[in-house]
Amino acid sequence: MPLCSALAQKPQASKPEVYGKDGPFSPPYVSGLYVDELEEGGEEYVILMNKYCVVPNHFLLVTKEFKRQTSPLTPQDLAAAYKLMSAGRRQGKNFFMFYNCGPLSGSSQPHKHLQFMPLVEENAPPIERLARRQRLEVDGKAFVISQLPYAHHIFRLPAYQSRPLEEVLDILAQAFISLMDLTFQTLRQLPVLPDGPPAYNVLLTFDHLHVIPRGSAEHQLSRGKVDIPVNALGFAGMMITKSEEEKSLLIEERPLEILRGVGLPKAEGESCSAVESSILDD
Ligand code: AMP
Repeated sequence: MPLCSALAQKPQASKPEVYGKDGPFSPPYVSGLYVDELEEGGEEYVILMNKYCVVPNHFLLVTKEFKRQTSPLTPQDLAAAYKLMSAGRRQGKNFFMFYNCGPLSGSSQPHKHLQFMPLVEENAPPIERLARRQRLEVDGKAFVISQLPYAHHIFRLPAYQSRPLEEVLDILAQAFISLMDLTFQTLRQLPVLPDGPPAYNVLLTFDHLHVIPRGSAEHQLSRGKVDIPVNALGFAGMMITKSEEEKSLLIEERPLEILRGVGLPKAEGESCSAVESSILDD
């Protein structure tokens, strides 16, 4: 579990009422952080380096025009993300994309931004080790990992470069809609909805698209009265702590329990849509 004392300087999640248009992702851009601009299907984006990166080359894809971070990903967002990841891969650099949607997802900035995290040795985040080991009975259908104790929905994408890019982008856009449908099914079964707009985390790798609905932004540890903020990186299997003390408290509480605490309960029957091997033994 990585430790990062610089995290203490990162802005904390905004409360919903302070969500507004002025922020660091609107012009004028900081020249040292500004990388480039791109256009995808009529939508314009700006690429910015992350000011508070935990690892080098963590960058952001920001809508040029102000859009809310509470809005769902569009086909253009997903296509731009997949193309950026592909461009990295062609140069031997592996990235995955994550999106923290809504204040309860662990997001801190109101302006729509997708984030890209480089992977140093592996070509996917730890959650992918579990997702890849699921044996699916049918292709083209969302699945869950039965051992994970929180609601989530995953779609397996066609293998990298196995199909024309436009076809993959179409599948990706449809997959996101089907995962959002399932996310709303998860919300519908709750006796009381979480506050505010629907919140969820999205993870995109070359193999899978994941959506994880959220019930709260932070988990209070049972010992130490520390609130642990969790965003998509936690659900990717990459929890980062600010101090040695926080790290041992987090291990004591057990990361899966923390994720359960900030996620939502699975709907009935969601434990067995894939045939798994014994995957939590790693
Ligand atoms: P989130 O917390 O999910 O909303 O993501 C916001 C991201 O933007 C975080 O990874 C921050 O480290 C990063 N960030 C915050 N302020 C700035 C800034 N002024 N310039 C660039 N990145 C920033």
